[in-house]
Amino acid sequence: MKKTIKLRHELHQHPELPGSEVNTARLIARFFEPLRPDETILNLGGTGEAFCFGDSKTGPTVLLRCELDAVPIQELNDMSYKSISHGISHKCGHDGHMAILASVGMALSRKRPRNGRVVLLYQPAEETGEGAAAVIRDKKFLQIKPDFVFAMHNLPGFPKGQIIVRSGTFNCASQGMVIKLFGKTAHAAQPETGTSPARAMCRIINEFQNLSSELNINDNLAFATVVGARLGEKAFGTAPGAAEIMATLRSGSDEIMSRMTQYSEHVIAGIASTERLKYDISYEDIFAATVNSENAVHIIRRVCAGLSVHVADNPFRWSEDFGGFTSIADGALFGIGAGKETPELHHPDYDFPDELVDMGSEIYQRIISGCLFCETPRT
Ligand SMILES: [Zn+2]
Ligand SMILES: [Zn+2]
Repeated sequence: MKKTIKLRHELHQHPELPGSEVNTARLIARFFEPLRPDETILNLGGTGEAFCFGDSKTGPTVLLRCELDAVPIQELNDMSYKSISHGISHKCGHDGHMAILASVGMALSRKRPRNGRVVLLYQPAEETGEGAAAVIRDKKFLQIKPDFVFAMHNLPGFPKGQIIVRSGTFNCASQGMVIKLFGKTAHAAQPETGTSPARAMCRIINEFQNLSSELNINDNLAFATVVGARLGEKAFGTAPGAAEIMATLRSGSDEIMSRMTQYSEHVIAGIASTERLKYDISYEDIFAATVNSENAVHIIRRVCAGLSVHVADNPFRWSEDFGGFTSIADGALFGIGAGKETPELHHPDYDFPDELVDMGSEIYQRIISGCLFCETPRT
Protein backbone atom coordinates (compact mmCIF):
# COMPACT_ATOMS: atom_id res chain seq x y z
CA MET A 1 0.00 0.00 0.00
CA LYS A 2 1.21 3.52 -0.84
CA LYS A 3 2.74 5.51 2.01
CA THR A 4 0.20 8.32 1.61
CA ILE A 5 -2.79 5.96 1.73
CA LYS A 6 -1.33 4.26 4.80
CA LEU A 7 -0.96 7.70 6.37
CA ARG A 8 -4.59 8.57 5.63
CA HIS A 9 -5.83 5.35 7.22
CA GLU A 10 -3.70 5.97 10.29
CA LEU A 11 -5.02 9.53 10.60
CA HIS A 12 -8.57 8.24 10.08
CA GLN A 13 -8.16 5.73 12.87
CA HIS A 14 -6.96 8.37 15.37
CA PRO A 15 -9.14 11.46 14.87
CA GLU A 16 -8.94 14.46 17.20
CA LEU A 17 -11.31 17.34 17.86
CA PRO A 18 -10.62 20.97 16.81
CA GLY A 19 -7.88 22.56 18.89
CA SER A 20 -6.59 19.31 20.38
CA GLU A 21 -4.93 17.76 17.33
CA VAL A 22 -1.70 17.00 19.25
CA ASN A 23 -1.14 13.41 18.11
CA THR A 24 -2.27 14.18 14.55
CA ALA A 25 0.31 16.98 14.34
CA ARG A 26 2.97 14.67 15.78
CA LEU A 27 2.17 12.00 13.19
CA ILE A 28 2.39 14.53 10.35
CA ALA A 29 5.70 15.96 11.66
CA ARG A 30 7.11 12.43 11.79
CA PHE A 31 6.02 11.83 8.18
CA PHE A 32 7.73 15.03 6.98
CA GLU A 33 11.01 14.55 8.87
CA PRO A 34 12.65 12.27 6.26
CA LEU A 35 11.44 14.63 3.49
CA ARG A 36 13.85 17.24 4.88
CA PRO A 37 11.84 20.43 4.40
CA ASP A 38 13.99 23.59 4.10
CA GLU A 39 12.11 24.97 7.08
CA THR A 40 9.62 23.51 9.58
CA ILE A 41 7.42 25.73 11.74
CA LEU A 42 5.70 23.96 14.64
CA ASN A 43 2.99 25.06 17.11
CA LEU A 44 1.55 27.53 14.64
CA GLY A 45 -1.71 28.98 15.98
CA GLY A 46 -1.86 26.07 18.44
CA THR A 47 -1.20 22.62 17.01
CA GLY A 48 -0.65 23.88 13.44
CA GLU A 49 2.54 23.26 11.50
CA ALA A 50 4.08 24.34 8.22
CA PHE A 51 6.65 22.58 6.04
CA CYS A 52 8.49 24.86 3.62
CA PHE A 53 10.31 23.79 0.46
CA GLY A 54 12.41 26.23 -1.59
CA ASP A 55 13.47 29.80 -0.92
CA SER A 56 11.25 32.89 -0.85
CA LYS A 57 14.15 35.05 -2.12
CA THR A 58 14.05 33.35 -5.49
CA GLY A 59 10.33 33.84 -6.25
CA PRO A 60 6.80 33.94 -4.83
CA THR A 61 5.58 31.93 -1.85
CA VAL A 62 2.66 29.57 -2.51
CA LEU A 63 0.80 28.35 0.57
CA LEU A 64 -1.34 25.22 0.36
CA ARG A 65 -3.56 24.53 3.35
CA CYS A 66 -5.16 21.42 4.79
CA GLU A 67 -6.91 20.83 8.12
CA LEU A 68 -5.86 18.71 11.10
CA ASP A 69 -9.21 18.36 12.84
CA ALA A 70 -12.01 15.79 12.90
CA VAL A 71 -15.67 16.18 13.96
CA PRO A 72 -17.68 14.98 16.98
CA ILE A 73 -19.59 12.27 15.07
CA GLN A 74 -19.72 8.55 15.86
CA GLU A 75 -18.49 6.60 12.83
CA LEU A 76 -20.88 4.02 11.36
CA ASN A 77 -18.49 2.48 8.81
CA ASP A 78 -16.84 -0.83 9.56
CA MET A 79 -13.43 -0.95 7.91
CA SER A 80 -10.03 -2.04 9.18
CA TYR A 81 -9.01 1.57 9.87
CA LYS A 82 -12.24 2.75 11.51
CA SER A 83 -12.00 5.41 14.22
CA ILE A 84 -10.93 4.11 17.61
CA SER A 85 -12.04 7.33 19.34
CA HIS A 86 -15.61 7.05 20.55
CA GLY A 87 -17.83 9.79 19.12
CA ILE A 88 -15.06 11.36 16.99
CA SER A 89 -14.29 10.71 13.33
CA HIS A 90 -12.94 12.23 10.10
CA LYS A 91 -16.34 12.89 8.52
CA CYS A 92 -15.19 15.98 6.63
CA GLY A 93 -12.37 14.18 4.85
CA HIS A 94 -9.60 16.21 6.45
CA ASP A 95 -7.62 12.97 6.75
CA GLY A 96 -7.64 12.84 2.94
CA HIS A 97 -6.66 16.50 2.60
CA MET A 98 -3.69 15.84 4.92
CA ALA A 99 -2.62 12.83 2.83
CA ILE A 100 -2.82 14.94 -0.35
CA LEU A 101 -0.42 17.53 1.09
CA ALA A 102 1.84 14.70 2.30
CA SER A 103 1.98 13.46 -1.28
CA VAL A 104 2.81 16.99 -2.50
CA GLY A 105 5.53 17.10 0.17
CA MET A 106 7.07 13.87 -1.17
CA ALA A 107 7.13 15.32 -4.69
CA LEU A 108 8.69 18.61 -3.49
CA SER A 109 11.29 16.72 -1.50
CA ARG A 110 12.37 14.88 -4.66
CA LYS A 111 12.30 18.05 -6.79
CA ARG A 112 12.57 21.30 -4.85
CA PRO A 113 11.21 24.49 -6.38
CA ARG A 114 13.97 26.56 -7.96
CA ASN A 115 11.87 29.71 -8.29
CA GLY A 116 10.18 30.53 -5.03
CA ARG A 117 8.86 28.56 -2.10
CA VAL A 118 5.98 26.23 -1.31
CA VAL A 119 4.53 26.15 2.21
CA LEU A 120 2.42 23.14 3.19
CA LEU A 121 0.25 24.30 6.07
CA TYR A 122 -1.53 21.88 8.39
CA GLN A 123 -4.06 24.10 10.12
CA PRO A 124 -5.84 23.30 13.39
CA ALA A 125 -9.47 23.89 14.36
CA GLU A 126 -11.10 24.55 10.99
CA GLU A 127 -14.47 23.17 12.07
CA THR A 128 -14.94 25.83 14.75
CA GLY A 129 -13.77 28.68 12.51
CA GLU A 130 -10.95 29.48 14.92
CA GLY A 131 -7.90 27.84 13.34
CA ALA A 132 -7.15 30.08 10.34
CA ALA A 133 -7.39 33.24 12.45
CA ALA A 134 -5.15 31.72 15.14
CA VAL A 135 -2.51 30.78 12.54
CA ILE A 136 -2.59 34.25 10.95
CA ARG A 137 -2.37 35.95 14.38
CA ASP A 138 0.65 33.84 15.38
CA LYS A 139 3.94 35.80 15.11
CA LYS A 140 5.56 32.80 13.44
CA PHE A 141 3.21 33.32 10.49
CA LEU A 142 5.29 36.43 9.62
CA GLN A 143 7.97 34.01 8.38
CA ILE A 144 5.54 32.76 5.74
CA LYS A 145 4.10 35.89 4.07
CA PRO A 146 2.30 34.05 1.25
CA ASP A 147 1.79 35.57 -2.20
CA PHE A 148 -0.66 32.84 -3.22
CA VAL A 149 -2.93 30.72 -1.00
CA PHE A 150 -4.91 27.65 -2.06
CA ALA A 151 -7.03 25.04 -0.32
CA MET A 152 -8.97 22.12 -1.69
CA HIS A 153 -12.09 20.54 -0.17
CA ASN A 154 -13.56 17.25 -1.25
CA LEU A 155 -17.19 17.52 -2.37
CA PRO A 156 -19.51 14.51 -2.41
CA GLY A 157 -22.23 14.81 -5.06
CA PHE A 158 -19.75 15.71 -7.83
CA PRO A 159 -17.98 13.21 -10.12
CA LYS A 160 -14.83 11.79 -8.59
CA GLY A 161 -11.82 13.98 -9.35
CA GLN A 162 -13.81 16.82 -10.92
CA ILE A 163 -12.47 20.28 -10.02
CA ILE A 164 -15.10 22.77 -8.83
CA VAL A 165 -14.17 26.45 -9.00
CA ARG A 166 -15.82 29.81 -8.65
CA SER A 167 -14.59 33.44 -8.66
CA GLY A 168 -15.91 35.62 -5.85
CA THR A 169 -17.68 33.99 -2.92
CA PHE A 170 -17.07 30.25 -2.81
CA ASN A 171 -18.39 29.65 0.72
CA CYS A 172 -20.98 31.58 2.69
CA ALA A 173 -20.33 33.57 5.83
CA SER A 174 -22.04 32.16 8.91
CA GLN A 175 -22.22 32.66 12.63
CA GLY A 176 -24.02 31.16 15.59
CA MET A 177 -26.12 33.60 17.62
CA VAL A 178 -27.11 32.80 21.20
CA ILE A 179 -29.91 34.92 22.69
CA LYS A 180 -30.64 34.70 26.41
CA LEU A 181 -33.85 36.22 27.77
CA PHE A 182 -34.21 36.96 31.46
CA GLY A 183 -37.58 37.57 33.17
CA LYS A 184 -38.85 36.48 36.56
CA THR A 185 -40.26 33.12 37.62
CA ALA A 186 -43.61 32.93 39.40
CA HIS A 187 -45.90 30.26 40.81
CA ALA A 188 -47.63 28.57 37.88
CA ALA A 189 -50.93 29.33 39.64
CA GLN A 190 -50.16 33.07 39.48
CA PRO A 191 -48.13 33.60 36.29
CA GLU A 192 -49.22 37.26 36.14
CA THR A 193 -46.96 38.03 39.10
CA GLY A 194 -43.81 37.03 37.16
CA THR A 195 -42.34 37.91 33.76
CA SER A 196 -42.34 34.96 31.38
CA PRO A 197 -40.14 35.10 28.26
CA ALA A 198 -42.42 32.58 26.45
CA ARG A 199 -44.12 35.06 24.13
CA ALA A 200 -40.86 36.91 23.36
CA MET A 201 -39.19 33.62 22.50
CA CYS A 202 -41.95 32.76 20.01
CA ARG A 203 -41.85 36.25 18.50
CA ILE A 204 -38.07 36.09 18.01
CA ILE A 205 -38.26 32.64 16.39
CA ASN A 206 -40.93 34.00 14.05
CA GLU A 207 -38.82 37.01 13.17
CA PHE A 208 -35.92 34.75 12.21
CA GLN A 209 -38.14 32.97 9.66
CA ASN A 210 -38.78 36.30 7.89
CA LEU A 211 -35.31 37.76 8.14
CA SER A 212 -34.39 37.92 4.44
CA SER A 213 -37.72 39.40 3.33
CA GLU A 214 -37.64 41.96 6.16
CA LEU A 215 -34.16 42.99 5.03
CA ASN A 216 -35.26 43.08 1.39
CA ILE A 217 -32.43 40.82 0.30
CA ASN A 218 -33.35 39.32 -3.05
CA ASP A 219 -31.07 36.37 -2.81
CA ASN A 220 -31.57 32.97 -1.29
CA LEU A 221 -28.21 33.22 0.45
CA ALA A 222 -29.28 35.27 3.44
CA PHE A 223 -31.24 33.41 6.06
CA ALA A 224 -31.34 32.29 9.67
CA THR A 225 -31.84 28.74 10.89
CA VAL A 226 -33.13 28.37 14.43
CA VAL A 227 -31.08 25.43 15.69
CA GLY A 228 -32.37 25.26 19.26
CA ALA A 229 -34.57 26.91 21.86
CA ARG A 230 -35.17 26.34 25.56
CA LEU A 231 -37.79 27.78 27.89
CA GLY A 232 -38.01 27.28 31.65
CA GLU A 233 -37.74 23.88 33.32
CA LYS A 234 -39.80 20.72 33.65
CA ALA A 235 -41.41 22.10 36.81
CA PHE A 236 -45.20 22.21 36.55
CA GLY A 237 -45.58 24.51 39.51
CA THR A 238 -43.35 27.24 38.07
CA ALA A 239 -43.95 29.79 35.31
CA PRO A 240 -40.65 30.26 33.40
CA GLY A 241 -38.25 33.12 34.05
CA ALA A 242 -35.58 32.44 31.41
CA ALA A 243 -35.27 31.34 27.79
CA GLU A 244 -32.52 30.74 25.28
CA ILE A 245 -32.67 30.75 21.48
CA MET A 246 -29.86 29.61 19.21
CA ALA A 247 -29.81 30.47 15.53
CA THR A 248 -27.27 30.27 12.71
CA LEU A 249 -27.14 33.30 10.42
CA ARG A 250 -25.83 32.60 6.91
CA SER A 251 -25.13 34.91 3.98
CA GLY A 252 -23.28 35.17 0.67
CA SER A 253 -21.14 38.10 1.80
CA ASP A 254 -19.70 39.65 4.94
CA GLU A 255 -21.54 42.88 4.20
CA ILE A 256 -24.96 41.18 4.22
CA MET A 257 -23.93 39.29 7.36
CA SER A 258 -23.32 42.54 9.19
CA ARG A 259 -26.71 43.90 8.01
CA MET A 260 -28.45 40.70 9.17
CA THR A 261 -26.69 40.88 12.51
CA GLN A 262 -27.55 44.53 13.13
CA TYR A 263 -31.17 44.01 12.13
CA SER A 264 -31.55 40.91 14.33
CA GLU A 265 -30.06 42.72 17.33
CA HIS A 266 -32.40 45.65 16.75
CA VAL A 267 -35.48 43.39 16.57
CA ILE A 268 -34.47 41.44 19.68
CA ALA A 269 -33.90 44.66 21.64
CA GLY A 270 -37.38 45.87 20.64
CA ILE A 271 -39.11 42.62 21.61
CA ALA A 272 -37.23 42.38 24.92
CA SER A 273 -38.19 45.94 25.76
CA THR A 274 -41.94 45.51 25.04
CA GLU A 275 -41.96 42.23 26.95
CA ARG A 276 -40.09 43.82 29.92
CA LEU A 277 -37.19 41.36 29.72
CA LYS A 278 -33.44 41.68 30.06
CA TYR A 279 -31.39 39.99 27.39
CA ASP A 280 -27.92 39.03 26.33
CA ILE A 281 -26.59 38.19 22.83
CA SER A 282 -23.35 36.33 22.09
CA TYR A 283 -21.77 34.77 19.00
CA GLU A 284 -19.95 31.49 18.36
CA ASP A 285 -18.49 29.65 15.35
CA ILE A 286 -17.91 32.82 13.34
CA PHE A 287 -16.92 32.26 9.69
CA ALA A 288 -16.24 35.03 7.18
CA ALA A 289 -17.22 34.37 3.56
CA THR A 290 -14.43 32.74 1.53
CA VAL A 291 -13.88 35.01 -1.46
CA ASN A 292 -11.75 33.71 -4.34
CA SER A 293 -9.69 36.06 -6.49
CA GLU A 294 -10.25 35.98 -10.25
CA ASN A 295 -6.52 35.61 -10.81
CA ALA A 296 -6.23 32.51 -8.60
CA VAL A 297 -9.26 30.89 -10.23
CA HIS A 298 -7.77 31.70 -13.63
CA ILE A 299 -4.54 29.91 -12.63
CA ILE A 300 -6.48 26.80 -11.54
CA ARG A 301 -8.50 26.75 -14.76
CA ARG A 302 -5.43 27.25 -16.93
CA VAL A 303 -3.22 24.60 -15.30
CA CYS A 304 -6.12 22.14 -15.12
CA ALA A 305 -7.11 22.51 -18.77
CA GLY A 306 -7.79 19.02 -20.04
CA LEU A 307 -9.12 17.84 -16.66
CA SER A 308 -12.81 17.98 -15.76
CA VAL A 309 -13.50 21.48 -14.39
CA HIS A 310 -16.92 22.69 -13.28
CA VAL A 311 -17.67 26.36 -12.63
CA ALA A 312 -20.26 26.62 -9.83
CA ASP A 313 -23.10 29.08 -10.49
CA ASN A 314 -23.69 29.88 -6.84
CA PRO A 315 -21.61 29.96 -3.68
CA PHE A 316 -21.77 26.88 -1.47
CA ARG A 317 -23.88 27.34 1.65
CA TRP A 318 -21.47 25.69 4.07
CA SER A 319 -18.75 27.78 5.66
CA GLU A 320 -14.98 27.47 5.76
CA ASP A 321 -12.43 29.53 7.64
CA PHE A 322 -10.10 29.72 4.62
CA GLY A 323 -11.57 33.19 3.99
CA GLY A 324 -9.01 34.36 6.56
CA PHE A 325 -6.25 33.51 4.07
CA THR A 326 -7.93 34.74 0.87
CA SER A 327 -8.39 38.10 2.61
CA ILE A 328 -4.60 38.52 2.97
CA ALA A 329 -3.29 36.99 -0.27
CA ASP A 330 -4.24 36.15 -3.83
CA GLY A 331 -5.98 32.81 -3.57
CA ALA A 332 -8.84 30.40 -3.88
CA LEU A 333 -10.61 27.55 -2.17
CA PHE A 334 -11.81 24.99 -4.67
CA GLY A 335 -13.55 21.64 -4.63
CA ILE A 336 -12.56 18.17 -5.76
CA GLY A 337 -15.49 15.87 -6.53
CA ALA A 338 -15.67 12.92 -4.12
CA GLY A 339 -18.13 10.90 -6.23
CA LYS A 340 -21.83 11.26 -6.95
CA GLU A 341 -22.84 8.36 -4.71
CA THR A 342 -20.51 9.14 -1.80
CA PRO A 343 -22.35 10.00 1.46
CA GLU A 344 -22.46 13.70 2.27
CA LEU A 345 -19.85 15.42 4.47
CA HIS A 346 -20.49 15.06 8.21
CA HIS A 347 -22.71 12.00 7.65
CA PRO A 348 -21.75 9.13 9.98
CA ASP A 349 -21.06 6.76 7.05
CA TYR A 350 -18.79 9.10 5.04
CA ASP A 351 -15.22 8.06 4.21
CA PHE A 352 -12.74 10.00 2.05
CA PRO A 353 -12.11 8.12 -1.22
CA ASP A 354 -8.47 6.98 -1.39
CA GLU A 355 -8.29 7.58 -5.17
CA LEU A 356 -8.51 11.32 -4.55
CA VAL A 357 -5.11 11.43 -2.83
CA ASP A 358 -3.13 11.12 -6.08
CA MET A 359 -5.64 13.20 -8.04
CA GLY A 360 -5.52 16.04 -5.50
CA SER A 361 -1.73 15.90 -5.35
CA GLU A 362 -1.49 16.16 -9.15
CA ILE A 363 -3.79 19.23 -9.18
CA TYR A 364 -1.72 20.95 -6.48
CA GLN A 365 1.53 20.22 -8.32
CA ARG A 366 0.10 21.82 -11.45
CA ILE A 367 -1.00 24.88 -9.43
CA ILE A 368 2.49 25.17 -7.90
CA SER A 369 4.09 25.18 -11.36
CA GLY A 370 1.51 27.71 -12.56
CA CYS A 371 2.27 30.09 -9.69
CA LEU A 372 6.03 29.73 -9.50
CA PHE A 373 6.89 29.87 -13.15
CA CYS A 374 4.38 32.03 -14.97
CA GLU A 375 2.20 34.13 -12.75
CA THR A 376 2.63 37.34 -10.86
CA PRO A 377 0.62 37.75 -7.67
CA ARG A 378 -2.20 40.28 -7.67
CA THR A 379 -0.71 42.39 -4.87
ZN1 LIG B 1 -16.61 19.92 8.09
ZN1 LIG C 1 -14.00 20.32 6.03
